[in-house]
Amino acid sequence: MEIYKSNTLKIYNSLSKNKEEFKPVVEGKVGMYVCGPTVYSNVHLGNVRTFMSFDMIFRYLKHLGYKVRYVRNITDAGHLENDADAGEDRIAKKARLEQIEPMEVVQRYTVDFHETLQKINNLPPSIEPTATGHIVEQIEIIKDILEKGLAYEVNGSVYFDVLKYNETEHYGILSGRNIEDSIHNTRTLDGQSEKKNPQDFALWKKADERHIMRWPSPWSDGFPGWHLECSAMSTKYLGETFDIHGGGMDLKFPHHECEIAQSKIKNGVNPVNYWMHANMLILNGQKMAKSTGNYILPNEIFSGDNEILSKAFSPSATRFFMLQANYRSILDFTSTGLEASEKGYVKLMEAVSSLDKIETSKESSLDIKAWKQKCYDAMNDDFNTPVLIANLFEAVKFVNVLLEKKATISAEDLEEFKATINAFVFDVLGLQNELQQDSSDKLSGVVEMLIGMRKQARENKDWALSDKIRDELAELGIQLKDGKDGTTFSVN
Ligand code: AMP
Ligand code: ZN
Repeated sequence: MEIYKSNTLKIYNSLSKNKEEFKPVVEGKVGMYVCGPTVYSNVHLGNVRTFMSFDMIFRYLKHLGYKVRYVRNITDAGHLENDADAGEDRIAKKARLEQIEPMEVVQRYTVDFHETLQKINNLPPSIEPTATGHIVEQIEIIKDILEKGLAYEVNGSVYFDVLKYNETEHYGILSGRNIEDSIHNTRTLDGQSEKKNPQDFALWKKADERHIMRWPSPWSDGFPGWHLECSAMSTKYLGETFDIHGGGMDLKFPHHECEIAQSKIKNGVNPVNYWMHANMLILNGQKMAKSTGNYILPNEIFSGDNEILSKAFSPSATRFFMLQANYRSILDFTSTGLEASEKGYVKLMEAVSSLDKIETSKESSLDIKAWKQKCYDAMNDDFNTPVLIANLFEAVKFVNVLLEKKATISAEDLEEFKATINAFVFDVLGLQNELQQDSSDKLSGVVEMLIGMRKQARENKDWALSDKIRDELAELGIQLKDGKDGTTFSVN
């Protein structure tokens, strides 16, 4: 690894509540699991923030040279309406309301999820497994936990015995909860529940007659509990102990706490070395959430079609807005915040676009190496994107003084400067240069217009004008090609 990268990467571990030096299980490789969406509705911008935070982390790890296996699941069954294992399955409920098949719900919102993340320029994960594709693995884990006496069966459903687990382990280790407090604060069971204790959680639920998404098991025709899929899929693809497990802050309890308990009993080891939690996107002072209706959809931002917004904002401006906050900080969504970020994004892209205009000198008056080191130091400090971006704005100043010839740069330094900016802006932050895209769209429009005028000239037998258009475009490096289906062009 090059010197500037070798400053140790530190990751804030939600389990120890400390920044720790990152040491992967296998040198040079990283296994990362991130809880994916429950595909029963369109992803809102809050969901996107979490997935974008882990995309940035994935990108930086790859940039450092790690071979990363990034697993992010799709929850397509088993996620009930509330955390106490009650209510309907979210996907089944949506299917009932819309009078379509649950698999149609899953398909529709999986497609929406992929399209949205692609627009915001997230990279696809290495593996994207589904809960319904891993029922067999989940049943095997339940059998094992039952055999070890840490779960019990009631009326065809199976529950994890949290109190028994807590006799030897600490249920609440991640979220800082104490089971004793929770026993104290929870109302006694109302007689409706089959659980021995309210803290217990479902590993398997017996399906009632109306429930379509059901699978056979030794206990009943039913479906797995939500927490189990992540234990099954993370350890199947990444091993019994893997490097990074991520998700939004709101998944710490009960979801991740339950994952730890299940995997620990099944495999006898702690499943995860670094727990990472991304913080929430806030709207109108409250967490953005589907359930409360307090949310905004990414497509509304790209079209400007929401009364909270002053105008439309591009995917890269939106991405930049979110990366200007640390992934562990709460971020307040406002139209004015987006406007400010858009200005910053445009400034950055203008500087990137003028890098090729910089002329070199024998000596550099700017310390490019020190600047580059600061960029790596920021990212090595638990992926601190706001500090990285501040350093990129320092680079914008460098570009401006170089263009104004108020500073000098050697050819070698300029190469390093350009490569570093491009790497951080495009590879690590995942921004796209929409200004360039914009001007190439405009260029296409102008050429198409000239092709139309040339066609008109030929219809009028005005060969002189027709040739003039073709020849002058050719001089600018734009070749016209007449074919059966009309005229096309290419730019050299
Ligand atoms: P869900 O589909 O509800 O399981 O959520 C998918 C991901 O989005 C999870 O990692 C959640 O923690 C995350 N999430 C939900 N709401 C927000 C929010 N307002 N801000 C950031 N992340 C969120
Ligand atoms: Zn999960």
